[in-house]
Amino acid sequence: MTSAPAFTPSANVAQLKESATIAVSQRAKALRASGREIIDLGAGEPDFDTPAFIRAAAQRAIDAGATKYTAVDGILPLRQAVADEANRRWKGSDKVTAAEVVISTGSKQSLFNACFTLFGPGDEVLIPTPAWTSYYEMVSIARATPVPVTGDPAHGFKVTAAMLETAATPRTKGLMLNSPSNPTGSVYAPEELRAILALAHERGWWVLSDEIYLRIAYGKAASSSLDVAPSRERLIVVNGVAKAYAMTGWRIGWTISPANVAAAMTALQSHTTSNAATVSQHAALAALSMRDEADAAVTAMVAQFEKRRDAALAILRTEPRIHVLAPDGAFYLYLRAPGAGKAADAGSAFAAQLLEKSGVAIVPGSAFLTPDWVRVSYAAEQAQVEEAMRRLVAAFRDLA
Ligand code: GLU
Repeated sequence: MTSAPAFTPSANVAQLKESATIAVSQRAKALRASGREIIDLGAGEPDFDTPAFIRAAAQRAIDAGATKYTAVDGILPLRQAVADEANRRWKGSDKVTAAEVVISTGSKQSLFNACFTLFGPGDEVLIPTPAWTSYYEMVSIARATPVPVTGDPAHGFKVTAAMLETAATPRTKGLMLNSPSNPTGSVYAPEELRAILALAHERGWWVLSDEIYLRIAYGKAASSSLDVAPSRERLIVVNGVAKAYAMTGWRIGWTISPANVAAAMTALQSHTTSNAATVSQHAALAALSMRDEADAAVTAMVAQFEKRRDAALAILRTEPRIHVLAPDGAFYLYLRAPGAGKAADAGSAFAAQLLEKSGVAIVPGSAFLTPDWVRVSYAAEQAQVEEAMRRLVAAFRDLA
């Protein structure tokens, strides 16, 4: 290794914090490599293999020569498949077209493309909080100001249109939405979403609707912004294949936006990454177009997530002092750390203790701007989830 030179990070990244969700899973992997037995409930990553029909489609695509660049915004059949899926929800006369779809290297890149394209210095972006750690950083990288709007924990931390209205200023330019939500698992009811989208439309805010967990909902289906929005004029829907189809490593996400915004995001992407991996685009095309196979796979995975959720909640409820939100979607449990309200960052202290002493990795709520809480991902084998919850309850009792 060469000696590290003196280095002052540029203004672009001087304020940047590493992603806490990624950092937790790196730490878990490092501890595992050093020989410790670790249950990793940190990063939100389905433990399932990518369904066989998707892997087979990718193999066929490689053999058929899908190894070269594609158009920057992705292969037309995939963009068309995304548009077709959107049109099964969007009932407006302005049908979604492939020209409004940009395929990227994961919904993370799609969100970044949208933030960097739409927001800049002086702009404020409302972020219902707690929210996924990268929203705040992406808005900041665009040199705009993230404005956290903390929801009511008694209501699954969901925000209302009235709360957003109170937090808005003349500089408000956009709003991030995420239902089902990471980290809480809360799902906005159609009428809640409709009211928020109506306000955003009235105010002329850009709405970035991150729907990556849309297909992972329990009991009843979650609503997309495309189901209830009054207009698509300033709506950017973000989704991808990672969570629903257990395809995290394939790195495929997309935006659905007005065509001029799509063109600007494509120009940005043409200078950063160009097209998403060609073979991965073909795999994603199989996930979206082989609908019977896909529906069967998603239904089976969601049923497993639901069983794990119920098993985890049953164990957590054996300790009445644990305040846990009962999630309707995604694969996270959000719970109040022992010492919450007393210590400055109770969630980090609890997560650190749980990892170092009990060998369970979870994410401190400070990553989601709610430091009294911690996030547990139950996208792991059920026996592991159950064992981890037993250790969590024991650690909670130690500290409470
Ligand atoms: N979105 C997942 C999480 O919150 C994956 C890790 C990441 O990209 O942040 O854990």
